[in-house]
Amino acid sequence: MKAEIIAVGSELLLGEIANTNAQYLSEWLATCGIDVYYHTVVGDNRERMTDVIRRAQGRVDLLVITGGLGPTEDDLTKEVVAELLERSLQIDQPAYDRIEAFLKTRGRTMTNNEKKQALIIEGADVLTNNAGLAPGMSVHTSDHQYILLPGVPREMKRIIADHFDHLLGKETIKSRTLRFFGIGESALNDRLADLIRTARNPSVAPYAELAEVRLRLTAKALDEQTALEMLDRLERQIRDEVGTYFYGYGETSLPEVVLDDCRKAGLTLSAAESLTGGAFASGLTDIKGASDVFRGSAVVYSDVAKINVLGVAQTLLDQQTAVSREVAIAMAEGARALYQTDLAIALTGEAGPTSNSGQTVGTVYCALAQASGTEVLELTYPAFDRGMIRLRSVKDAYFMLIK
Ligand code: ATP
Ligand code: MG
Repeated sequence: MKAEIIAVGSELLLGEIANTNAQYLSEWLATCGIDVYYHTVVGDNRERMTDVIRRAQGRVDLLVITGGLGPTEDDLTKEVVAELLERSLQIDQPAYDRIEAFLKTRGRTMTNNEKKQALIIEGADVLTNNAGLAPGMSVHTSDHQYILLPGVPREMKRIIADHFDHLLGKETIKSRTLRFFGIGESALNDRLADLIRTARNPSVAPYAELAEVRLRLTAKALDEQTALEMLDRLERQIRDEVGTYFYGYGETSLPEVVLDDCRKAGLTLSAAESLTGGAFASGLTDIKGASDVFRGSAVVYSDVAKINVLGVAQTLLDQQTAVSREVAIAMAEGARALYQTDLAIALTGEAGPTSNSGQTVGTVYCALAQASGTEVLELTYPAFDRGMIRLRSVKDAYFMLIK
């Protein structure tokens, strides 16, 4: 929703007072998730006010007008808006009664000018003024909302405070979770430091979990579409900065994204697992419908299995430790042939706690074989946690398939 704040009063144009109402209103609208596109100031003049409001009708949805609701001849706001909307002005009985009661305490009767303050635009919601006599009002048409507020700052603020909830409708809250892999929480926080520090609405909250980070974005606005647009904008900013680590939304897990991507691209997948002992396959087959994409994984924990199941050359294993780039490639290509898939992943590595292969504990090779060739990722994890090394390797393999 786009808004324009229109401050009415010749004293503003003469520089006698500063337009503090516009600042206050801008802040208020920002907290409601409404974009203020224009601040306009116009004198107490019928033609120029008409012109300004017409212009605003052409460029915003919400017009917030302050000033000119009082009793004097130069208070014209209601008349001008009513005329433009082709609506009449009608006495609001509760407002009339309040003015009458107030004057009575002073031993006075109502003048015509004072009576004017009880006039409201036909069809408007009356915003009782608990700090003065002239009520504010809110008028809805098919294209616009008009909020008319008194110029006296104290009265204007009081009306907003008292009618906050229904003035612009109920607030909607929308959240979106972005999921990242391959970047730690502190690194992500560093890269997004300015964004996270300054983001109020939408707000950003990071959550770390094993080798993954989630960012939960929450936007508050008056309607769902505005909230979603706010989330879109922030998401774009975040992904501009750390998009290479982004892989999905909400509860979607890495293996789900792998299966979705493969399914969309019409690709089949298989694996050869040494270090992970079937965990790669297990993560995929946890998800229903995996069989569309995933054909199988060979758990080849020994040299003899690598040779007999996947056809890895005996000579290669004689020359190389099984934890090597070359063996990873041979495993991936062997699985691709065995299962006749478009893609095949191979995982071989040293999970510790002590090294059998002669490779440093935490060294992992992940190969991806496909028609265009085979690529290998060499990964180095901290050596202290066998479970973590195996789990991270599986996730790295999934992520390799997504990128
Ligand atoms: P009143 O019943 O006092 O006539 P009104 O709704 O007609 O109220 P104005 O006559 O436009 O409002 O302004 C009343 C006073 O409120 C001004 O003299 C000024 O002191 C203050 N005021 C008006 N507009 C603003 C503004 N935009 N920013 C700050 N103060 C304002
Ligand atoms: Mg006035």
